[in-house]
Amino acid sequence: MEKMKAVVFYGPRDMRFEEVERPVPKEGEVCIKVKYASICGSDIEEYKIGSDRALPPLIFGHEFSGEIVEVGQGVSKERIGQRVSVNPILYCGKCFYCKKGLINLCNNRRSVGRTLGVEKKRCDGGFAEYVCVPEFSVVPLKEGVTFEEGALLEPLAVCYCAAKAVSFEKGENVLVIGSGPIGLMIIQFLKIFGSGKIVATDIMDFRLDAAKACGAHEVVNVKSESIEKALEYTGGIGYDRVIVTAGAPGVINDSIKLVRNGGSIILVSLIREEVSINPVSIVGRQLTVYGSYMFTTEMQDVMDYLADKRLDVRNIITSTYNLSETPEVFKDLASGNSKDIKVLLKID
Ligand SMILES: [Zn+2]
Ligand SMILES: [Zn+2]
Repeated sequence: MEKMKAVVFYGPRDMRFEEVERPVPKEGEVCIKVKYASICGSDIEEYKIGSDRALPPLIFGHEFSGEIVEVGQGVSKERIGQRVSVNPILYCGKCFYCKKGLINLCNNRRSVGRTLGVEKKRCDGGFAEYVCVPEFSVVPLKEGVTFEEGALLEPLAVCYCAAKAVSFEKGENVLVIGSGPIGLMIIQFLKIFGSGKIVATDIMDFRLDAAKACGAHEVVNVKSESIEKALEYTGGIGYDRVIVTAGAPGVINDSIKLVRNGGSIILVSLIREEVSINPVSIVGRQLTVYGSYMFTTEMQDVMDYLADKRLDVRNIITSTYNLSETPEVFKDLASGNSKDIKVLLKID
């Protein structure tokens, strides 16, 4: 058996860089030599507390790019050499939702770099030299789209969908709660879509600086100021839409306070705690509360923005590390003291 280097998750706060068996593509699969992978906020959450979405041992990584080096039975050899990214949603293709094209809602889906699905079967991801995925999940990179950009197609597609959810209209004033990577990428799309005023919040100034660089008109540091200050930027009326990308449970009620009557609240972050809300404020003010989960085919749309240079991810990627440094990088990102925003892993 051939070996490869990989980063394996063994349980909360236990991640190891080691040698493992190199996977061989099964029927219908391709083997990708990974070039770049990106660390997702959800990876850091699983690293910190773990859940049945990431049962150890497991190789994380659902945001990555690389080159196809081997194909399994039934896959054309012409695939070899193709530069690709991967849609990590491994849908069943047969159920009620899949037939409607809503692959992100497929109950039978598995997910690259996770143990999702009925059997909780391990599905290794891209924090490794090689990864095998079904051919249908492959997203070829357009000419002019770099491997670095390719590694961000997945989170960009998440953000693209969140920014345009509930029929976005030009000129809308938008509050983005949380200026981590997801918040920042959403701000970039809002700008492209022609939103009105964009206001961003966070508890860290360096993230708010990044929010401004991405196109936010105003920022509020909610550690030193009340979030209600954000209301001033709308003349007290409230926002047409509030997009929630932060994980603190209190942001749900903040968003209800800051959205205007008849406005929309788009929830993107997975808030895992229970939150109590007053439903009267939703009915009596005719609010829309919408959960935006993943995407379906939008990695393609995002690819066009990258190929046309309408989207610039450079002010989001703050560091690039080697795969061997990954355990240390996770420790740092989980500490809460990191000054990194979006981190890439270079795998060579
Ligand atoms: Zn992710
Ligand atoms: Zn399905």
